[in-house]
Amino acid sequence: MISFARRHLVPYLPPILKDFILALFRAYYNMSDCVFCKIVNNDAKATILYRDEQVTAFRDLHPAAPTHILIVPNKHIESVNHLQPEDEALVGHLFTVAGQLAVQEGIAQNGYRLITNTGTDGGQTVFHLHMHLLGGGRMTHITK
Ligand code: AMP
Ligand code: ZN
Repeated sequence: MISFARRHLVPYLPPILKDFILALFRAYYNMSDCVFCKIVNNDAKATILYRDEQVTAFRDLHPAAPTHILIVPNKHIESVNHLQPEDEALVGHLFTVAGQLAVQEGIAQNGYRLITNTGTDGGQTVFHLHMHLLGGGRMTHITK
């Protein structure tokens, strides 16, 4: 889709519109192809633990710890690199919900780890911002 636009549409656009149109195509393509957007919209299955108007939390499909939950914003934000100043309250809410889920899972007392991988070198594999909540055992290394 993006390469089609780049080949057949972009060459005929005034330069000022070029980046804007490509960004629109990219945003649409990412969202329609994003597994976490599908989970948020009930178009893909997941064990949902919490949901409100801002965030959704569900169990990781491949748990790396006894408790492994993902907390995601309901709106598609690719990564920390794509956060805007108006997203600050949303990011704070991700932490608040993570803390509540830790209590609910019975891991708050002993402790847990919150991780947000960013970009390829950060180990991000799903490009919809998310926070991992990991616990239920002692973490022995810095990666998940
Ligand atoms: P990251 O590598 O930080 O991008 O984390 C992505 C996480 O999403 C991984 O821990 C995957 O196991 C998890 N994951 C991928 N697809 C699904 C899914 N359909 N449902 C639940 N978790 C998923
Ligand atoms: Zn998404």
